[in-house]
Order: sequence, then C-alpha cells, then structure tokens
Amino acid sequence: MKLLVPVKRVVDFNVKIRVKPDGSGVELANVKMSMNPFDEIAVEEAVRLKEQGKVTEVVAVSVGPAQAAETLRTALAMGADRGILVKTDATVEPLAVAKILKKVVEQESPQLVIMGKQAIDDDSNQTGQMLAALLGWPQGTFAFKVSLNAGTIDVTREVDGGLQTVGLKLPAIVTTDLRLNEPRYASLPNIMKAKKKPLDETTPEALGVDVAPRLKVLKTAEPGGRKAGVKVGSVAELVNKLKTEAGVL
Ligand code: AMP
Repeated sequence: MKLLVPVKRVVDFNVKIRVKPDGSGVELANVKMSMNPFDEIAVEEAVRLKEQGKVTEVVAVSVGPAQAAETLRTALAMGADRGILVKTDATVEPLAVAKILKKVVEQESPQLVIMGKQAIDDDSNQTGQMLAALLGWPQGTFAFKVSLNAGTIDVTREVDGGLQTVGLKLPAIVTTDLRLNEPRYASLPNIMKAKKKPLDETTPEALGVDVAPRLKVLKTAEPGGRKAGVKVGSVAELVNKLKTEAGVL
C-alpha cells in the first residue's frame, strides 16, 4: 500500500519573524527555512507504518521553489522512498496546493495521505480539508493516534472536549497534531543515502493547475508588544481587578 506525505518548506520555527518594511509580507531573505513541524510528524508516522510492514512505499511531495528539494531530501533521509517536487516560485495558496495534491493523488493512487494539520507560516489549517473535499475522501483531522487496519484506519483526534475516535474507510486523508509522535532526526548515513533516492520534478502548469492567487494581502503588521503584568496580594484583589480593570467578569 502506497502512502503520500505532502511536506511544506517554511520559515524555521526558531526564527523570529520580521515584517518587510513595506508591510507586504514576512521577510524571507536570508532566513533559515525548514520542513513544517507538523509535516515532520506526518513523515515520522508514515515511516513508522512502513517499518511495521503496513505500508510498502512512502512518497513525499512538496509544492514550492527549487529549494523545496532540500525539504524533500530531509523527508527521504527520515525514511521516505521517493520525492516529487512541484516546482513554482509563486506563492501558492491552500486551495491551489489542494488542487495540485489532487492531481498527484490521481497519478500516484495512494491509499492514504498523511499531512500536517497546518503550516506554521500562514497557519491556514485548510489544505487537508480541501483535499478531502476535492477527492471526496473521508478525513481524520488533528490526529493524536492512528491505527491502520486492512482497508480502514481509526484516527483518534484532539477535539475541544478531549479525544474522539473516528473510523475511516480507505482511501482517506489524515492530518497530524503535535502529540501524534516525536519525529526522528535524520542520521548522517541516512542523509547520504537520501541523496541517491529518486526525486521527480513537475510544475503546476504540467499538472494543469492554475496557481494565480485568489486572496489579496492588504497589510502585514507586527503584533503589539505585551504589557507588563502585576502581582496581586489576594484573591479578592484579583477578582476586583478582573471586574473593574480587565472587564472580563
Ligand atoms: P495549511 O492548510 O497551509 O495550514 O497546510 C496544511 C498542510 O498542507 C501542511 O502541513 C502540509 O502538509 C500541506 N501543505 C500546505 N502547503 C504545502 C506545499 N506548498 N507543499 C506541500 N504540502 C503543503
């Protein structure tokens, strides 16, 4: 059984984000980029399923510029078998990514797609849901635990009230939450081996997908600084401040 894992190249989670002086977006020049952390969790889960003998091939796919090939190499070093780069220098919005992934799914025929619940750059939390809708496949979002059986998958999800388990018929889409697993580090020998693994390249145009933006960014601004806190002497004082100053009671 084949498994597809979409991975996005994003600003590294340790980098302090700076807004471009003209407010048109976030500064990306000379900034460390890495695989989206939720996608690392997706790759880890896919590789674990392969190690358990439940999956035969793990294919990683990334939509982005030439440098997104590095992100795919990281996935290959973690244990994915093959990479597909859908090369474009355009900013690709979630709907266009979902349309591209749909084409890749049609070409590759995976039984399962495991992807991040959200990309930490735009925090959209949309692509997995849109892909499920476009394909007409069931979805298990915010996965905390997955259990893959013959023809079905049980996904335990993180929901407001705690945990909820849904049973999905394959083929299906799963999006990962933070507690699903702890991704491995790619070892040096595996990084070397990954250089020899196949990495195919295509473009949105070759797949017949128009990536022209549908959204317009009006302004990007830094969040306001946090105000200093105060220490209260008693519960009564706290309640009083919450009532009179914060206005939340
Ligand atoms: P988003 O809806 O943008 O928050 O992204 C959710 C998930 O969709 C990510 O964690 C990735 O698994 C996948 N995804 C989004 N954009 C891309 C991209 N450009 N290339 C590959 N996968 C992507």
